[in-house]
Amino acid sequence: MVITRFAPSPTGNLNIGGVRAAIFAYLYARHKKGKFLLRIEDTDKERSKNEYEENIIESLAWLNVSYDSLFHQSEHLERHTSVLKKMIENNTAYVSKEIPTEPGGRTEVIRFKNPNRMVVFNDIVRGDISMDTSDLGDFVIAKSLEEPLFHLAVVVDDWDEGVTHVIRGEDHISNTPRQILLQEAIGAPTPIYAHLPLILGPDRSKLSKRKGAKSITEYRDMGYLPEAIFNYDAFLGWHPGGEEEVFNQTELIERFTLENVQKSGAIFDEVKLAWFNREHIARLSPEAFIEYAKQFLSTETLEALTNANLLEKLVPIMRERIQNFAELRELDTQGEFSYYTTRPSYETERLFWKTDTDPIKTSERLKKTQDILTSIPEDNWCETIVKETLWPYAEEAGRGAVLWPLRYSLSGRDKSPDPFVIASIIGKNETIQRISQAIKQLA
Ligand code: GLU
Repeated sequence: MVITRFAPSPTGNLNIGGVRAAIFAYLYARHKKGKFLLRIEDTDKERSKNEYEENIIESLAWLNVSYDSLFHQSEHLERHTSVLKKMIENNTAYVSKEIPTEPGGRTEVIRFKNPNRMVVFNDIVRGDISMDTSDLGDFVIAKSLEEPLFHLAVVVDDWDEGVTHVIRGEDHISNTPRQILLQEAIGAPTPIYAHLPLILGPDRSKLSKRKGAKSITEYRDMGYLPEAIFNYDAFLGWHPGGEEEVFNQTELIERFTLENVQKSGAIFDEVKLAWFNREHIARLSPEAFIEYAKQFLSTETLEALTNANLLEKLVPIMRERIQNFAELRELDTQGEFSYYTTRPSYETERLFWKTDTDPIKTSERLKKTQDILTSIPEDNWCETIVKETLWPYAEEAGRGAVLWPLRYSLSGRDKSPDPFVIASIIGKNETIQRISQAIKQLA
């Protein structure tokens, strides 16, 4: 059975690049009907913080990345100590006297007795990798019996947890030969390795917190969908082949293979991420869309739209206008939803189409428009019928000259959806009344 793990150190919030290793290990385990473990590598007491661990757990839950077990490395200390003792006993490690390099520094550490040989391993992504470990010398594996360091802890934990596949970032490649030597020394099996390509910024430099790697919870708060982040991250170094790119988690699990992981760096691109988000927003059911919208619209707007029974009707319009839900909040703040529920007020001159500043002509056209719209039976009132009925007149008298004053009388704004959309949402009666108000202002 395949067992993979994600082994983050809780030294920062989980970011869009860091979570990629979790997603790949998760996809592989689920594809193989195996197990996926989360191991919080919290042995470094000074740098590990509870809030970061909480952030990691919260982010994975939000992304719907479930694990079969959760471990804390710090809870395995006794086991690490006993392994260290055994290594000292059988001479694969030793207590080494040190000359402290700084005041108060250690006078004793535990070093690995390096057999100084060539280590070769096969990486699923990168093929055969060999490294002469004699350059490493007798590297330190613990500060003391109670203070194991990274390599020892990882090797012992992977063994104890039965990890079969270590899927992690390429920055760990140089650690692997050391870890293989330790496995051999303690009699642990060597797992299969797959090192994922580096994630690069658009300028091809390594992605870092300073360079645009936002945390998962920041994206959540910006109104990104977990499905979009998951989908986008799955494509950071992997592609199922073919044209299609938008997949949900189940579809990704079905398609995922380690063999398709690329060697070369994966470019992280905010624009592409926004595209994925828009695609996944397009796939939300109206009910799910409304659930998200509710988290981002102001209470007043929400109340006004609910009372006017307009929330559902506005879903296609809102969907069309956003790439993330925070943009909905922005549109709301700019009053972009107020004119659906409240008759707008504006300055009369704004009704004029460009240089067409004759109030009488504008008024006449609005009157004619109103007559045409009045002829539509209430039951037939919808975007298509309103457009089809008015269109011949708009063509005849000039589209801008007819549609601008109409749109402005309905929204009171320079920018808004077209008048047919607004008319269909506010209904026949309100449309006719708003045109009357405009005609009155022009008199
Ligand atoms: N704790 C390590 C890190 O945060 C990961 C160790 C591993 O995946 O082997 O980078």
